[in-house]
Amino acid sequence: MADRAFDLIIVGAGPAGIALAAEARAAGVPADGILVLEKAPAHSWIIRKYYPASKPVLANYKGIEAKCEGVLCIPDLTREETLTYLDRAIRDSGAHVRYREEVHRIASEPDRRLRVESATGVYRAAAVVIAIGILGRPNKPSYPISREVARRVRFDVTGERLRGLDILVVGGGDTAMEYCQFLVQEANRVTLSYRGPDLTRPNPINRDSVLALAGQGKLTLGLESEIAALQAAAGRVRVLFSRPPETSAVVDRVVYALGGTTPENFLKSVGIEFEGASPRLTKSFGTSVPGLYLAGDLTAGKKGGSIILAFNTAAAAMRRICEDHGICRISPAPP
Ligand SMILES: Cc1cc2nc3c(=O)[nH]c(=O)nc-3n(C[C@H](O)[C@H](O)[C@H](O)COP(=O)(O)OP(=O)(O)OC[C@H]3O[C@@H](n4cnc5c(N)ncnc54)[C@H](O)[C@@H]3O)c2cc1C
Repeated sequence: MADRAFDLIIVGAGPAGIALAAEARAAGVPADGILVLEKAPAHSWIIRKYYPASKPVLANYKGIEAKCEGVLCIPDLTREETLTYLDRAIRDSGAHVRYREEVHRIASEPDRRLRVESATGVYRAAAVVIAIGILGRPNKPSYPISREVARRVRFDVTGERLRGLDILVVGGGDTAMEYCQFLVQEANRVTLSYRGPDLTRPNPINRDSVLALAGQGKLTLGLESEIAALQAAAGRVRVLFSRPPETSAVVDRVVYALGGTTPENFLKSVGIEFEGASPRLTKSFGTSVPGLYLAGDLTAGKKGGSIILAFNTAAAAMRRICEDHGICRISPAPP
């Protein structure tokens, strides 16, 4: 299915993504025009992973009004009943669902369509909805990080102004390269630690920029290096390496870029503008990128969302998509 065009691509098969597929079908979008990409092996992964087996699923979770505005709706249910309901909804939609397919890049094409990339496919559509929830997690190293050291360890470079510090960036992909460039720009003394012998994973621009910084003496390149442990060291972090053996370094911060991502980083990486901590959204959840919408928990802000809110945001986004993109054969009912 690589390199195919769709009417609508939905990223994430949780309650919001499933509701979007259902709304799109109800609006007359053909089933084979809808693609759902889900990184987990099954839909509604957050419910499967985080809800205890005996948990009652409350329709008015966190006091959020349980008033349904679209085609999907739930009363109070058990966890299993909720999963059965969502299972039926995604099956009835007939949409293509591709599991174990994490979207890592979305970009605008010159013809104003959006290109959506996973490790195994490239897909295009005029309208794309991101419904990945808020529980994304960066990958962590295998060795433990003590609480004392954890205050000096970062998994992105957005949480704190990092300036004039000794920083070890760990990783060998594009994110690690981008962190290095950013941190050098911010007048930090940066060392890159990567276990491979060469920088083969990043794109050529990132790789060449980092090699140029190393050539200019603005960055220290630690290839074939592997960390064994981190220790607290008088307000700093002592990094003990297993490769080269019996070496260590003391730094102010360790920044890991080992894959995985937070939703905020993902949204910023696709070019969505933010206002403070939240993405800038229209009333129908359109983003600053034409054709790109958000749904579900991503739209709920700090107070968090609920399943019915996820359904309702999907319905609102779909109404707007029908108006803007001409892919619907039936006008969706107003809320
Ligand atoms: C412990 C707990 C209890 C809760 N109890 C209730 C309750 O009783 N009632 C209620 O209404 N709400 C409850 N909620 C809240 C509810 O689960 C969420 O509001 C709802 O799941 C949000 O749906 P969503 O589709 O926006 O996101 P999610 O449910 O988070 O779904 C996002 C999906 O996107 C996938 N994904 C992530 N990144 C990518 C990527 N890059 N590419 C492809 N796929 C990706 C994920 O694997 C996931 O399947 C609870 C939440 C938690 C954590």
